[in-house]
Amino acid sequence: MTDLNSSNGDNSSLFKMPTIKYNKLFINGDFVDSVSGSTFETIDPRTGDVIARISEGAKEDIEIAVKAAREAFDSGPWPRMSGVERAKIMMKFAELIDENIEELATLDAIDAGKVYFINKAFEIPSAANTLRYYAGAADKIHGEVLKSSGQFHAYTLMEPIGVVGHIIPWNAPTMVFFTKVSPSLAAGCTMVLKPAEQTPLSALFYAHLAKLAGIPNGVLNVVPGFGPTAGAAISSHMDIDVVSFTGSVEVGREIMQAAAKSNLKHVSLELGGKSPLIIFDDADIDKAVELALLGILANKGEICVACSRVFVQEGIYDQVEKKLVEKAKAWVIGDPFDPKTQQGPQADRNQFEKIISYIEHGKREGATLLTGGRRVGSQGYYIEPTIFSNVKEDMLIAQDEIFGPVMALMKFKTIEEAIKSANNTRYGLAAGIVTKNLDIANTVSRSIRAGIIWINSYLAVGSDIPFGGYKMSGFGRDQGLEALHKYLQVKSIVTPIYNSPWL
Ligand code: NAD
Repeated sequence: MTDLNSSNGDNSSLFKMPTIKYNKLFINGDFVDSVSGSTFETIDPRTGDVIARISEGAKEDIEIAVKAAREAFDSGPWPRMSGVERAKIMMKFAELIDENIEELATLDAIDAGKVYFINKAFEIPSAANTLRYYAGAADKIHGEVLKSSGQFHAYTLMEPIGVVGHIIPWNAPTMVFFTKVSPSLAAGCTMVLKPAEQTPLSALFYAHLAKLAGIPNGVLNVVPGFGPTAGAAISSHMDIDVVSFTGSVEVGREIMQAAAKSNLKHVSLELGGKSPLIIFDDADIDKAVELALLGILANKGEICVACSRVFVQEGIYDQVEKKLVEKAKAWVIGDPFDPKTQQGPQADRNQFEKIISYIEHGKREGATLLTGGRRVGSQGYYIEPTIFSNVKEDMLIAQDEIFGPVMALMKFKTIEEAIKSANNTRYGLAAGIVTKNLDIANTVSRSIRAGIIWINSYLAVGSDIPFGGYKMSGFGRDQGLEALHKYLQVKSIVTPIYNSPWL
C-alpha cells in the first residue's frame, strides 16, 4: 500500500494541473455564464483543494436550455436528418474523444479521483464505443407493418420522444454521460444534461467536442448545478418529455414525484445496489478472489454494481477469506496518476465521511473487521480496502449501499440458502456467481432478482448489454437496443383499404 504520508500528498512529479478550458454552462451551442452569475467550486479529491469555479446553473438557466432544446427539436435539423447523417456526426464525436483522451482522463482523475491509466484504457474508450454502437443503430430505427384486417392497413412509426432531461451522478462521469446521451442522439432527440455538482469538468469538455463534431446548436445542452435547484427544475419542467436519471434511490423518488406532479413525463431510474457475489465450493479459488476484489475495489467501490456482499460456501470459506485479506492488504492505494495505483481517493469529503461512518457502524454492530477500515494519508479522501466477516444479514453494512471499498463477507451451506440470502435486499441491480457447475449457474442465475448476472466474471458490461435494475434499483434500461426505446415513442397509423382482394 502506498504511504501517502511520506509524500505528503505531493505527487507533482507525476502530474501537472491542466488549464480548465470549459467552466461555463453550454446552452444552444455556446458557453455562457449563469443568469445569476453564481459559481461553485469543484474540488480535487486527492487534496481537497479547489480545481476551478464553475458557473452554477439554476431554474432560470434550465428554462433557457429547455427552450433551446425544444426549438432544436421542433424546427432544427437533428430530428429531421436521416439516421445515416446523424450517425456520421456521432462517429466524428467518438473520434474526437479518442483524440482528446489524455485530457479527458486527466479531468476525470482530478475531478472524480478516477485512476488515470485505467480510465484512459477502459472507461473512456468504451464510452466512445457506446457512441459508435448507437451511431450504428441510428439508421435502423423503424416501426412495423401490421396487417390489421382486410379493410384496414396499419403500420407503426418510431418517433423521437422529444426533449430529454438527463441527470447523472459523479462516480462515472464519462461512462454515464455517454450511456445517456448516445441513444438519445441516435433516436433524434434533443436534450439538457445536468452533470453531478462534484464532477462537471469532463461533461463540459464533451459539450465542446459535440459542437466540434457538428451536433447542431440546441441539441445537447449541458448545465452544471445542484440537485435541488437545477436538477429539480429538470424533473418538474413542463416541456421535458422524459427524464433519465442515474443516482440514489432517495433522489429517484423525488424525481418520480416531480414528474407526476408536472407533465407526467416518462421517467427511467438507474439507482443503487447491494449486489451479491456467490462463490461455490467448486470454484477456482484464485479466480473467485480476484473477481471479488475487482467487484468491490474497482473505482474505490463507487460503482452501483459493486459486490458489497460476498457469500462463500463453507467448504472453501476459510481459504477464500485468507486470500481476500492478503490481497486486500497488498492493494495499491495512491495518486490516480501513479501507474502503480489500483485505487484512488473517494470522490469527495461527503462520500469519504459516509464510508468511514458505515465502517464505524459495522464495528459497533459486532461484525469483525478483518482488514482496512482506516483513512490512508493525512490529506485527500483515501480509504483502505475494508473487509468485514461475521456479518449478519440484518446489519446495516449488509443492507445499505455504502458506495465505497467495504465488503461484507458471509458464509453459506446450501444453494437454497445462498439464493435466499442473495435476494435478501431491497435492491436488484447485479449479481455474480462463481462455480464450474453449469446446473448451479443456471439455477442461481434464474433465481436471483437482479438486472444483470455475471457467471465466472464480474463488471463485464458492454454497449450492447442492457443494464438496469429490478426492485428498488430502478426501472428502464441503459445500454443495448433496449435503451433506444426510452427515447422513442410508437405512433400507429391506420388507413382504409378499399376493395382488397384479400381478407
Ligand atoms: P444523487 O442521487 O445524490 O445525485 C445524482 C444526481 O442527482 C446529481 O446530478 C445530483 O445533483 C442530482 N440531484 C440531487 N438531488 C436532486 C433533486 N432533488 N432533483 C433532481 N436531481 C437531483 O446520487 P449520487 O450520490 O450522486 O450518486 C450515487 C448513487 O448513484 C448511488 O446510489 C449509486 O448506486 C447510484 N448509481 C447508479 C448507477 C446505475 O447505473 N444504476 C450508476 C452510477 C451510480
